[in-house]
Amino acid sequence: MSPKSIQTGLSRTCRLCLYRILSNPSSLKRSLVIDHRNRISNFFVPTGGIAYKKDSQMDVHSTLIRAGYVRQPYSGFFHYLPLGQRVHQKLEQLIDKHMRSVEGASKLALSTISSEELWQSSGRLEKGLSELFRFEDRKESRYLLSPTHEEEITTLVSSLVKSHKQLPLRLYQITRKYRDERRPRLGLMRGREFTMKDLYTFDATEGAALETYREVQGAYKALFEEIGLPYIHVRPILLPPAEHFLTNEKAEADSGNMGGSLSHEYHFPSLSGEDTVISCRNCGYCANEETAQIAPPKPMLDLAVSRIATFHGITKDRKTLINIHYPRYTKATDDGVLNEVHAGRVKSVIRDFDPSVMNALDLWFDAFVGYAHLAEEGSYSRVVNIFDARIPPSHYKDIPPSRFSKMIEKKSMEDFPIPTASITLDDPEFGSSLNLLKTQDGDGCPKCGEGKLEATGAIELGHTFHLGTRYTVPLRADVLNGAGEWKPMVMGCHGIGVSRMIPAIAEVYSDHNGLCWPRVVAPYDVALVHGSVKKNAAVPPKEDIEAVYDVLVSGGLVGGTDVDVILDDRDKDIVWKLKDAVLVGYPIVCIMGKSWVNSRKVEIEVRKTKVKLEVELADLRTVIEGLLKEL
Ligand SMILES: [Zn+2]
Repeated sequence: MSPKSIQTGLSRTCRLCLYRILSNPSSLKRSLVIDHRNRISNFFVPTGGIAYKKDSQMDVHSTLIRAGYVRQPYSGFFHYLPLGQRVHQKLEQLIDKHMRSVEGASKLALSTISSEELWQSSGRLEKGLSELFRFEDRKESRYLLSPTHEEEITTLVSSLVKSHKQLPLRLYQITRKYRDERRPRLGLMRGREFTMKDLYTFDATEGAALETYREVQGAYKALFEEIGLPYIHVRPILLPPAEHFLTNEKAEADSGNMGGSLSHEYHFPSLSGEDTVISCRNCGYCANEETAQIAPPKPMLDLAVSRIATFHGITKDRKTLINIHYPRYTKATDDGVLNEVHAGRVKSVIRDFDPSVMNALDLWFDAFVGYAHLAEEGSYSRVVNIFDARIPPSHYKDIPPSRFSKMIEKKSMEDFPIPTASITLDDPEFGSSLNLLKTQDGDGCPKCGEGKLEATGAIELGHTFHLGTRYTVPLRADVLNGAGEWKPMVMGCHGIGVSRMIPAIAEVYSDHNGLCWPRVVAPYDVALVHGSVKKNAAVPPKEDIEAVYDVLVSGGLVGGTDVDVILDDRDKDIVWKLKDAVLVGYPIVCIMGKSWVNSRKVEIEVRKTKVKLEVELADLRTVIEGLLKEL
């Protein structure tokens, strides 16, 4: 910055300050005490120390920003600030511990960049086009930022492993991945850059691969339990493998050609969750909302005609208007919950249905082609009326005039015969299973037939796939078996959304005042806060504070077990510092204030249990160790 540009725009008083600063270079630096102690003054924590207003809404993403963990430079991208980086690192260490429990798992780090050519050969390039970050180098070779690494790891392993005697092989990494989400949202929950743990397993036989799969399930269970994260373990369902990583469309009937596969999802129940998990308490049935089945719905005999709604959809060729008639509410009489049409279920009836269109009715009128008596067969616009099985057949004729019929009238098209078909309860193909609505609380359980389903908002934190030979066949990853034959290796892949886990943990462990990390991922175990409420009151001397810090860290002994402590030595009053410690969410705060000055006692506050204690220095370390074991 030139002196001239410094002057521009500054008031006279500011210029005076600037002059003082420039004429005294040491005041340009922040004061740092560098020793073996962790000091907040030396640490970059842009945080506020401000409590939430009581009526403001809880939002984990904004709490993480306010408390100085992350910043979001662009939609879906995040900078981890030092506090956030520490939480991430601890989470990573914890995941390492549990992955090592899967016998023989080794950690590696593959390049972020993969080639389009490789993705072409696995057949995934075309499918993932809209969500891949792609680019070209100076030689015009095409690359992409990997959203997942099945192709790369299979190629790597197949170049190094030739015999069944080198198996099983379990390789995992915790690295950044990229997906050009259409709608990045909910902070770290759904970013365009995210950290994922992905474990790839290679076995010689299907049986051995399934055994590995079970072993990984055990490690996942132990991991979630150690963090104390509640999770819903979605039971095995048939899914097309790996496409999951690229799109959110699950179990689309037409993706079945990838080969069905064993899969488990680990969902974190959360009101802000964008997925819905459906479960039955009676029999334990549990499925993702996209794939959940329900017992075939029965006609709601007491449904009033006025409570029937109509959804308009359109086909990809824009010729067929789809009118779906369904009960507006889940209950026939009182209000119940608003029903919603389920795109996947409409697609199972009309395969060409385009769920991305919002204004189907207008679009269909705009694209109207010819009339039946003028056009060639099949080239004209037409209408399909579909009646959800919940609508009693006696109501079909009485459905109230919809916007559709009003528009027909307005456009004076009444006299033209528009080919119209109906799909109803009598339909031999779909008939009584015509369930076109999203699964809701209270729907009948498809498994036991007795229980009622419950819908819970959820966020997917983990996903395990038994991939079989999905990648090893097209990428020719074969090994010689005992009989001297070349056979494709059998693969599994097991993901955990690491960056997603941070807001999930934060959501479970937080309140109106701020965060409350479980010790295992907390940025520090203990914050040591000192000072006084009043400006001129006596404060503990520097030597005392440092002595207490040293006792906390190692019991004052060389070689004592380390407790992770940070000293809040900022030039602020103690009330401000305490509020800040609560916002940041250290499991334990040790306070040196009035009690220390009067009676040489350290006050201890446990964030989670709200326990408050006063202890003498001699007992401090033992008490802290005991408390930390419970956190
Ligand atoms: Zn059930």
